[in-house]
Amino acid sequence: RRTITRLPEWLKTPIPAGNDHYKSIKKDLRGLGLHTVCEEARCPNISECWGGSDKSAATATIMLMGDTCTRGCRFCSVKTNRKPPPLDPHEPEHTAEALARWGLGYVVLTSVDRDDLADGGARHFAETISKIKSKKPSLLVEALTGDFRGDLDMVKIVAQSGLDVYAHNVETVEGLTPFVRDRRATFRQSLKVLEHVKTVMGQDGMITKTSIMLGLGEQEEELMDALTELRKVGVDVVTFGQYMRPTKRHLKVEKYVTPDEFEMWRQRALDMGFLYVASGPLVRSSYKAGEAFIENVLK
Ligand code: SF4
Ligand code: SF4
Repeated sequence: RRTITRLPEWLKTPIPAGNDHYKSIKKDLRGLGLHTVCEEARCPNISECWGGSDKSAATATIMLMGDTCTRGCRFCSVKTNRKPPPLDPHEPEHTAEALARWGLGYVVLTSVDRDDLADGGARHFAETISKIKSKKPSLLVEALTGDFRGDLDMVKIVAQSGLDVYAHNVETVEGLTPFVRDRRATFRQSLKVLEHVKTVMGQDGMITKTSIMLGLGEQEEELMDALTELRKVGVDVVTFGQYMRPTKRHLKVEKYVTPDEFEMWRQRALDMGFLYVASGPLVRSSYKAGEAFIENVLK
Protein backbone atom coordinates (compact mmCIF):
# COMPACT_ATOMS: atom_id res chain seq x y z
CA ARG A 1 0.00 0.00 0.00
CA ARG A 2 1.13 3.45 -0.79
CA THR A 3 1.87 5.60 2.21
CA ILE A 4 0.61 9.10 1.91
CA THR A 5 2.65 11.65 3.76
CA ARG A 6 0.42 14.33 5.11
CA LEU A 7 2.14 17.61 5.59
CA PRO A 8 0.45 20.14 7.82
CA GLU A 9 -0.94 23.19 6.04
CA TRP A 10 1.76 25.55 7.29
CA LEU A 11 4.45 23.56 5.47
CA LYS A 12 2.61 23.64 2.15
CA THR A 13 2.81 27.38 1.59
CA PRO A 14 3.76 28.12 -2.03
CA ILE A 15 7.13 29.69 -2.69
CA PRO A 16 6.44 33.40 -3.25
CA ALA A 17 7.64 34.93 -6.51
CA GLY A 18 10.88 36.86 -6.08
CA ASN A 19 11.04 40.65 -6.18
CA ASP A 20 13.51 42.75 -8.19
CA HIS A 21 16.40 42.19 -5.75
CA TYR A 22 15.87 38.47 -5.97
CA LYS A 23 15.86 38.59 -9.76
CA SER A 24 19.00 40.69 -10.01
CA ILE A 25 20.90 38.53 -7.47
CA LYS A 26 19.84 35.45 -9.42
CA LYS A 27 20.88 36.98 -12.73
CA ASP A 28 24.26 38.11 -11.35
CA LEU A 29 25.00 34.57 -10.24
CA ARG A 30 25.09 33.25 -13.80
CA GLY A 31 28.61 32.80 -15.05
CA LEU A 32 30.27 33.19 -11.65
CA GLY A 33 30.71 29.45 -11.20
CA LEU A 34 29.34 29.49 -7.65
CA HIS A 35 27.16 26.69 -6.34
CA THR A 36 24.72 27.84 -3.73
CA VAL A 37 23.04 25.58 -1.21
CA CYS A 38 20.03 27.88 -1.66
CA GLU A 39 19.49 26.75 -5.26
CA GLU A 40 20.86 23.23 -5.06
CA ALA A 41 18.80 22.28 -2.02
CA ARG A 42 15.80 24.17 -3.48
CA CYS A 43 15.49 26.07 -0.24
CA PRO A 44 11.98 27.46 0.21
CA ASN A 45 13.39 30.69 1.68
CA ILE A 46 15.32 31.74 -1.38
CA SER A 47 13.13 34.66 -2.42
CA GLU A 48 13.27 36.04 1.14
CA CYS A 49 17.03 35.54 1.59
CA TRP A 50 18.00 36.85 -1.82
CA GLY A 51 15.29 39.44 -2.15
CA GLY A 52 14.69 41.06 1.23
CA SER A 53 13.80 44.72 1.57
CA ASP A 54 17.46 45.75 1.44
CA LYS A 55 19.74 44.37 -1.28
CA SER A 56 22.83 44.93 0.87
CA ALA A 57 21.38 42.36 3.30
CA ALA A 58 20.89 39.66 0.63
CA THR A 59 22.10 36.32 2.03
CA ALA A 60 23.26 33.15 0.31
CA THR A 61 24.93 29.93 1.45
CA ILE A 62 27.91 28.38 -0.33
CA MET A 63 29.24 24.88 0.27
CA LEU A 64 33.02 24.46 0.31
CA MET A 65 35.26 21.38 0.09
CA GLY A 66 33.11 19.25 -2.18
CA ASP A 67 29.83 17.41 -1.93
CA THR A 68 30.98 14.28 -0.10
CA CYS A 69 31.08 14.10 3.69
CA THR A 70 33.15 11.76 5.85
CA ARG A 71 30.30 11.57 8.33
CA GLY A 72 26.81 10.17 8.12
CA CYS A 73 24.29 12.04 10.24
CA ARG A 74 20.87 10.41 10.24
CA PHE A 75 18.99 13.56 9.25
CA CYS A 76 21.25 14.65 6.40
CA SER A 77 21.08 13.75 2.71
CA VAL A 78 24.65 14.69 1.78
CA LYS A 79 26.52 11.65 0.40
CA THR A 80 29.08 9.93 2.61
CA ASN A 81 32.49 8.45 1.88
CA ARG A 82 35.51 7.87 4.10
CA LYS A 83 37.84 9.16 1.42
CA PRO A 84 36.31 12.05 -0.53
CA PRO A 85 38.24 13.57 -3.46
CA PRO A 86 41.10 15.92 -2.48
CA LEU A 87 40.42 19.62 -1.94
CA ASP A 88 40.57 21.99 -4.88
CA PRO A 89 43.50 24.28 -3.96
CA HIS A 90 42.03 27.04 -6.15
CA GLU A 91 38.67 27.04 -4.42
CA PRO A 92 39.47 29.80 -1.88
CA GLU A 93 40.66 32.20 -4.59
CA HIS A 94 37.87 31.37 -7.06
CA THR A 95 35.18 31.59 -4.40
CA ALA A 96 36.48 34.93 -3.13
CA GLU A 97 36.69 36.35 -6.65
CA ALA A 98 33.18 35.26 -7.54
CA LEU A 99 31.69 36.48 -4.26
CA ALA A 100 33.37 39.85 -4.62
CA ARG A 101 31.67 40.27 -7.99
CA TRP A 102 28.25 39.05 -6.83
CA GLY A 103 25.92 41.68 -5.37
CA LEU A 104 25.44 40.01 -2.01
CA GLY A 105 25.58 41.55 1.47
CA TYR A 106 26.07 38.46 3.60
CA VAL A 107 27.47 35.04 2.78
CA VAL A 108 27.33 31.87 4.80
CA LEU A 109 30.21 29.53 4.04
CA THR A 110 29.63 25.99 5.06
CA SER A 111 31.16 22.64 4.23
CA VAL A 112 30.92 18.91 4.54
CA ASP A 113 32.95 17.42 7.40
CA ARG A 114 36.40 16.40 6.26
CA ASP A 115 37.70 14.04 8.94
CA ASP A 116 40.09 12.64 6.30
CA LEU A 117 42.17 15.84 6.38
CA ALA A 118 44.69 16.46 9.16
CA ASP A 119 43.27 19.93 9.83
CA GLY A 120 39.67 19.02 9.00
CA GLY A 121 39.77 21.71 6.30
CA ALA A 122 40.23 24.57 8.81
CA ARG A 123 43.00 26.24 6.80
CA HIS A 124 41.00 26.00 3.59
CA PHE A 125 38.07 27.67 5.35
CA ALA A 126 40.29 30.39 6.83
CA GLU A 127 42.03 31.06 3.52
CA THR A 128 38.68 31.47 1.76
CA ILE A 129 37.46 33.93 4.41
CA SER A 130 40.61 36.04 4.45
CA LYS A 131 40.62 36.20 0.64
CA ILE A 132 36.96 37.29 0.58
CA LYS A 133 37.65 39.98 3.16
CA SER A 134 40.67 41.31 1.32
CA LYS A 135 38.74 41.53 -1.98
CA LYS A 136 35.48 42.86 -0.55
CA PRO A 137 35.73 43.97 3.09
CA SER A 138 32.09 45.07 3.20
CA LEU A 139 30.78 41.55 2.55
CA LEU A 140 29.69 40.06 5.87
CA VAL A 141 30.89 36.50 6.30
CA GLU A 142 29.47 33.75 8.47
CA ALA A 143 31.27 30.41 8.70
CA LEU A 144 29.17 27.40 9.60
CA THR A 145 31.74 24.75 10.49
CA GLY A 146 31.81 21.22 11.82
CA ASP A 147 33.38 20.36 15.17
CA PHE A 148 36.90 19.56 13.83
CA ARG A 149 36.73 16.44 16.04
CA GLY A 150 37.07 18.74 19.03
CA ASP A 151 40.47 20.07 17.90
CA LEU A 152 40.18 23.58 19.31
CA ASP A 153 43.31 24.83 17.52
CA MET A 154 41.39 24.36 14.27
CA VAL A 155 38.45 26.33 15.66
CA LYS A 156 40.92 29.10 16.49
CA ILE A 157 42.30 29.16 12.94
CA VAL A 158 38.82 29.78 11.54
CA ALA A 159 37.79 32.18 14.31
CA GLN A 160 40.80 34.40 13.62
CA SER A 161 40.43 34.49 9.83
CA GLY A 162 38.45 37.74 9.69
CA LEU A 163 34.88 36.47 9.69
CA ASP A 164 31.89 38.21 11.32
CA VAL A 165 29.86 35.30 12.69
CA TYR A 166 31.00 31.84 13.79
CA ALA A 167 28.25 29.25 13.56
CA HIS A 168 28.31 25.64 14.62
CA ASN A 169 25.11 23.65 14.90
CA VAL A 170 24.26 21.43 17.85
CA GLU A 171 21.31 20.26 15.68
CA THR A 172 19.34 18.68 18.54
CA VAL A 173 19.16 18.23 22.33
CA GLU A 174 21.87 16.31 24.17
CA GLY A 175 19.87 13.12 24.77
CA LEU A 176 18.97 12.69 21.09
CA THR A 177 22.42 13.54 19.73
CA PRO A 178 23.68 9.93 19.49
CA PHE A 179 20.60 8.97 17.43
CA VAL A 180 20.57 12.04 15.22
CA ARG A 181 24.16 13.05 14.51
CA ASP A 182 27.13 10.96 13.41
CA ARG A 183 28.60 9.08 16.37
CA ARG A 184 31.75 11.22 16.24
CA ALA A 185 29.70 14.29 17.15
CA THR A 186 28.63 14.99 20.73
CA PHE A 187 26.67 17.80 22.28
CA ARG A 188 29.48 18.55 24.76
CA GLN A 189 32.09 18.69 22.01
CA SER A 190 29.92 21.15 20.10
CA LEU A 191 29.54 23.33 23.20
CA LYS A 192 33.34 23.37 23.50
CA VAL A 193 33.67 24.55 19.90
CA LEU A 194 31.27 27.43 20.51
CA GLU A 195 32.90 28.27 23.84
CA HIS A 196 36.36 28.32 22.31
CA VAL A 197 35.39 30.96 19.75
CA LYS A 198 34.58 33.31 22.66
CA THR A 199 37.76 32.31 24.49
CA VAL A 200 39.88 33.19 21.47
CA MET A 201 38.03 36.31 20.34
CA GLY A 202 36.66 37.64 23.65
CA GLN A 203 33.00 37.69 24.74
CA ASP A 204 32.20 40.68 22.55
CA GLY A 205 34.74 39.94 19.86
CA MET A 206 32.65 37.57 17.77
CA ILE A 207 29.00 36.61 17.34
CA THR A 208 28.42 32.88 17.84
CA LYS A 209 25.42 31.05 16.52
CA THR A 210 23.81 27.63 16.57
CA SER A 211 20.80 25.87 15.14
CA ILE A 212 18.38 23.29 16.48
CA MET A 213 15.92 21.18 14.51
CA LEU A 214 12.57 20.58 16.18
CA GLY A 215 10.31 17.61 15.62
CA LEU A 216 12.84 14.84 16.32
CA GLY A 217 11.20 13.82 19.58
CA GLU A 218 12.86 16.33 21.90
CA GLN A 219 11.05 17.09 25.16
CA GLU A 220 10.39 20.59 26.40
CA GLU A 221 12.69 20.21 29.37
CA GLU A 222 15.53 18.87 27.25
CA LEU A 223 15.24 21.82 24.94
CA MET A 224 15.28 24.25 27.86
CA ASP A 225 18.43 22.50 29.15
CA ALA A 226 20.08 22.79 25.74
CA LEU A 227 19.34 26.52 25.58
CA THR A 228 20.66 27.01 29.11
CA GLU A 229 23.91 25.23 28.21
CA LEU A 230 24.27 27.30 25.06
CA ARG A 231 23.79 30.54 26.96
CA LYS A 232 26.38 29.40 29.52
CA VAL A 233 29.03 29.30 26.81
CA GLY A 234 27.93 32.69 25.52
CA VAL A 235 26.14 31.67 22.32
CA ASP A 236 24.47 34.82 20.91
CA VAL A 237 22.11 33.55 18.24
CA VAL A 238 19.90 30.50 17.94
CA THR A 239 17.62 29.34 15.16
CA PHE A 240 14.84 26.74 15.27
CA GLY A 241 13.37 24.99 12.25
CA GLN A 242 11.24 21.92 11.56
CA TYR A 243 13.16 18.70 10.84
CA MET A 244 12.10 17.40 7.42
CA ARG A 245 12.93 13.83 6.47
CA PRO A 246 14.98 13.85 3.26
CA THR A 247 14.28 10.19 2.31
CA LYS A 248 12.78 7.05 3.86
CA ARG A 249 16.27 5.97 4.92
CA HIS A 250 16.51 8.93 7.25
CA LEU A 251 15.05 9.50 10.69
CA LYS A 252 11.35 9.94 10.69
CA VAL A 253 9.63 13.11 11.79
CA GLU A 254 8.26 12.61 15.31
CA LYS A 255 6.23 15.76 15.33
CA TYR A 256 5.24 18.69 13.16
CA VAL A 257 5.73 21.62 15.47
CA THR A 258 3.09 24.32 15.00
CA PRO A 259 3.91 27.93 14.10
CA ASP A 260 2.61 28.97 17.56
CA GLU A 261 5.07 26.64 19.27
CA PHE A 262 7.90 28.03 17.15
CA GLU A 263 6.88 31.49 18.23
CA MET A 264 6.87 30.34 21.86
CA TRP A 265 10.44 29.03 21.52
CA ARG A 266 11.51 32.27 19.89
CA GLN A 267 10.16 34.21 22.86
CA ARG A 268 11.69 31.85 25.41
CA ALA A 269 15.10 32.05 23.81
CA LEU A 270 14.93 35.86 23.71
CA ASP A 271 13.91 35.87 27.39
CA MET A 272 17.00 33.77 28.14
CA GLY A 273 19.22 36.46 26.68
CA PHE A 274 19.89 35.38 23.11
CA LEU A 275 20.61 38.44 20.99
CA TYR A 276 18.36 37.35 18.16
CA VAL A 277 16.41 34.26 17.27
CA ALA A 278 14.94 32.95 14.04
CA SER A 279 12.22 30.39 14.63
CA GLY A 280 9.66 28.93 12.27
CA PRO A 281 8.74 25.74 10.42
CA LEU A 282 10.80 26.62 7.33
CA VAL A 283 13.66 28.39 9.08
CA ARG A 284 17.16 27.09 8.25
CA SER A 285 20.26 28.21 10.11
CA SER A 286 21.12 30.79 7.43
CA TYR A 287 17.55 32.13 7.10
CA LYS A 288 17.74 35.88 6.37
CA ALA A 289 20.97 35.95 8.32
CA GLY A 290 22.12 39.19 6.67
CA GLU A 291 19.01 41.11 7.63
CA ALA A 292 19.14 39.82 11.19
CA PHE A 293 22.81 40.71 11.58
CA ILE A 294 22.38 44.22 10.19
CA GLU A 295 19.33 44.90 12.37
CA ASN A 296 20.65 43.46 15.61
CA VAL A 297 24.40 43.93 15.51
CA LEU A 298 25.27 46.79 13.21
CA LYS A 299 22.41 49.14 14.17
FE1 SF4 B 1 19.99 30.04 1.21
FE2 SF4 B 1 20.01 29.51 3.83
FE3 SF4 B 1 18.40 31.37 2.88
FE4 SF4 B 1 17.90 28.84 2.36
S1 SF4 B 1 17.84 29.78 4.37
S2 SF4 B 1 17.82 30.51 0.86
S3 SF4 B 1 19.98 27.99 2.15
S4 SF4 B 1 20.65 31.42 2.82
FE1 SF4 C 1 25.55 16.16 6.80
FE2 SF4 C 1 27.15 17.80 8.16
FE3 SF4 C 1 26.48 15.40 9.17
FE4 SF4 C 1 28.12 15.60 7.07
S1 SF4 C 1 28.52 16.32 9.17
S2 SF4 C 1 26.44 14.15 7.29
S3 SF4 C 1 27.25 17.34 5.96
S4 SF4 C 1 25.10 17.15 8.77
